[in-house]
Amino acid sequence: MRSPIPDYLAEVLDDCRGDEGGAVADYIPELARADPDRLAIALTTPDGATYCAGDADVEFSIQSMSKPFAYDIALRDSGFEAVLGKIGVEPSGEAFNEISLESSSGRPRNPMINAGAIAAHSLIEGRDAEERTERFRERMSLAADRELQYDEAVYTSELESAYRNMAIGYMLRTHGVLDGDPEDVVRGYIRQCALSVTTRDLSIMAATLANGGVQPVTGRRLSGDRAIRQTLSVMMTCGMYDAAGDWMTTVGIPAKSGVAGGILGALPGQVGIAVLSPRLDVHGNSTRGVQLFERLADDMGLHLMEVPPVGRSVLRGHTLHGDADVIGLQGVIGFAAAEAVVRQVVETELSGGEVILDLTRVHGVSDVARRILLEVVRRLTLHDDKQVSLVDPEGILEDPDAGDGVRPRVLASLDDRGGSPAH
Ligand code: GLU
Repeated sequence: MRSPIPDYLAEVLDDCRGDEGGAVADYIPELARADPDRLAIALTTPDGATYCAGDADVEFSIQSMSKPFAYDIALRDSGFEAVLGKIGVEPSGEAFNEISLESSSGRPRNPMINAGAIAAHSLIEGRDAEERTERFRERMSLAADRELQYDEAVYTSELESAYRNMAIGYMLRTHGVLDGDPEDVVRGYIRQCALSVTTRDLSIMAATLANGGVQPVTGRRLSGDRAIRQTLSVMMTCGMYDAAGDWMTTVGIPAKSGVAGGILGALPGQVGIAVLSPRLDVHGNSTRGVQLFERLADDMGLHLMEVPPVGRSVLRGHTLHGDADVIGLQGVIGFAAAEAVVRQVVETELSGGEVILDLTRVHGVSDVARRILLEVVRRLTLHDDKQVSLVDPEGILEDPDAGDGVRPRVLASLDDRGGSPAH
């Protein structure tokens, strides 16, 4: 069978191909030469399958889509305290290149506008622009799973007319946000923006963000959960320039756009998406790119606020197995699901001396759910005088120490009862 997913993507591209609204960015002379009709879409799943349609292998400069990645690297290289001390996390509602700082703290408002991104670039490890941009290039190549290069023509072209970003650099230096030579930092930031990528690359890089920092194809961990959560949060609130609120309500996917016409989006746990169409709207976002995201979000129910209810669906019910009460669970257990388990245990008349939690069909347990389940084990054991066992052949509830000396018996299967613990 032929996968319907590329066909769907091609259809979505065709549906918005006719829209010629907007104009290519021309304040960077090299970008003005882009073919305005280019159109591409790609998506990558957390287990590394990529689907593309259109010009998905055409290279263009990453521009502002480099900002979330540089922020993530800065968080890891310099630490949260240093980064948060220099760059805020509030949406600015201003244009991307606004020359302004938070009046109270003197910090750039967020890392997705140029002022904050220039500061974030300075917090990447390296003595000068060359070392920082090389580190950036290496990290991005790992995320894309191919060796990426800088587009020297785009870099030189932007540098020749970078008066505004230079002004921002000097302003940051005056306020002590930058320590070193501001021109060196701005040169590094502009080079970072000139990294050459394809729409396919970007979808894989976005999937690394969606996947909590684990590159979906190689399985290599490139960032930590906390840094990724922080990065996705500022993408959600500040990623779409001064149209961030509109984007949140209509699309609802943490995203970042760039003036070369790309937009990347990362829906946590689900998918990385990238599009390319060089004509920009008044906010500087790709006109057809925004439409493509709106269409995908609608068709595929990808809005962050649209999540299926998980509570009751994890319960497979209460059965008796000999004289033991068995509570069967399934799927991924988060807070709401763990609460449903608690309620089931509280409301069920437990008849036997033993209670078995059957986790055979569980394939994920969040930290809070793990603590709740272990507290259930502890209370049943100490307060209700039950013997508690877990059927947990995969060891999903690793090291089930319930506290106060309580450790449930772990069985490989229900029929294992009476036998020795599984591990
Ligand atoms: N290098 C560009 C600039 O600083 C990036 C802007 C963008 O993509 O929004 O002007």
